[in-house]
Amino acid sequence: MSDRIIAKIEYWRERVGRTQAEGLYFFNEPVEAILSPTRVRVRGREMLMFASYSYLGLLGDPRLNAAAQAAVAEFGTGTHGVRLLAGTLQLHHELEVALANFTNREAALTFSSGYATNLAAISALVGRRDVVICDKLDHASLLDGCALSGAELVRFHHNDLADLERCLKRAAPEATKLVVVDAVFSMDGDIAPLPGLVELCRAYNAWLMVDEAHSLGVLGATGRGIEEHFGLDGVIDVKMGTLSKAIPSVGGYLAGSAGLIQLFRHAARPFIFSAALPPPQVAAAKAALDVMLAEPERVARVQANACYLRERLRALGFNILNSETAIVPLICGSDECAYQMVRECQQRGVFVLPVVSPAVPKGMARLRATVTAAHTRDEIDCALEVFAEAGRALGVI
Ligand SMILES: *Cc1c(COP(=O)(O)O)cnc(C)c1O
Repeated sequence: MSDRIIAKIEYWRERVGRTQAEGLYFFNEPVEAILSPTRVRVRGREMLMFASYSYLGLLGDPRLNAAAQAAVAEFGTGTHGVRLLAGTLQLHHELEVALANFTNREAALTFSSGYATNLAAISALVGRRDVVICDKLDHASLLDGCALSGAELVRFHHNDLADLERCLKRAAPEATKLVVVDAVFSMDGDIAPLPGLVELCRAYNAWLMVDEAHSLGVLGATGRGIEEHFGLDGVIDVKMGTLSKAIPSVGGYLAGSAGLIQLFRHAARPFIFSAALPPPQVAAAKAALDVMLAEPERVARVQANACYLRERLRALGFNILNSETAIVPLICGSDECAYQMVRECQQRGVFVLPVVSPAVPKGMARLRATVTAAHTRDEIDCALEVFAEAGRALGVI
């Protein structure tokens, strides 16, 4: 009798309907206009944007827009299909050479989304009889990649090297081992302990893959990410990044040895069976990379802004976990409380969003603020005042 599809439909109808009825539903909200790198119009009102992944303030940059427009004029809006067959353009090669140089690797390969990139990497590298060892807070795309691969998935406690070592020890000696972590964890804003990870991977003969979605452009003096942050160039075997955050286009990439990239080019299913990135997105990504390298002051600015925001929030009494980056969680507790915080903030003109279960554990629901290089000190101060008022009104601080 029980139809599980109907049960799922009912579950979401009830959950979304109840939240909407209470005026606490904030997801899928259309942005009506981008007024500046830090201001948007939502529901007819202008708000300060504190939920953006455009960490370097490059979304809408005229140089990126011009590059995208020129690419459309020259090549059109799509490609002749998948990369392996007729879809590859000279533009893809240029971007991949630039990404290989940027990551200081022999080669790089782009994919149509960061999500697809993680599916591609893990499923091409490991399979049945192999073991993938993931941090408990790894991004969902990494876990989905593990599922697609068919390898055994083992998870270690967040950033806990002793627990990782236990997992490595327990793996069968003949199994190929792949350790996969986020460089910057997308819900907590903390950083993976790269030096310890590298040491353990070497000791136990495991490969190391790192997802740089939130560290590209944010960590290291020139925004090159977690290796630059720790002064450990070249220690990661498989470097993954997205073209949808600090680089405000769409897509993802893998960088590594020439042999590894050759393998991905011919064996990664999301590469082989999905259309190539379209010309304007490729050109915009390349232009963004160029601007980022030419203007390292943007990297310095996002770091200084993030540091200021974190210090002031801690001083106000907010629990922001161990955030060390531009992602700053303001822990609220219940889902309800996080929704109410967001409503208070949006009513006061600051666009932020909630993260609730199951994306984070029950009782750890939060408002997640992100800050960019484009924010001025005045804008951050203005947001801080709003966070403080809302936090006090709801007893969060
Ligand atoms: C955003 C994100 C992805 C997915 O990237 P998209 O380009 O949005 O598909 C992968 N990993 C992490 C850690 C992310 O935050």
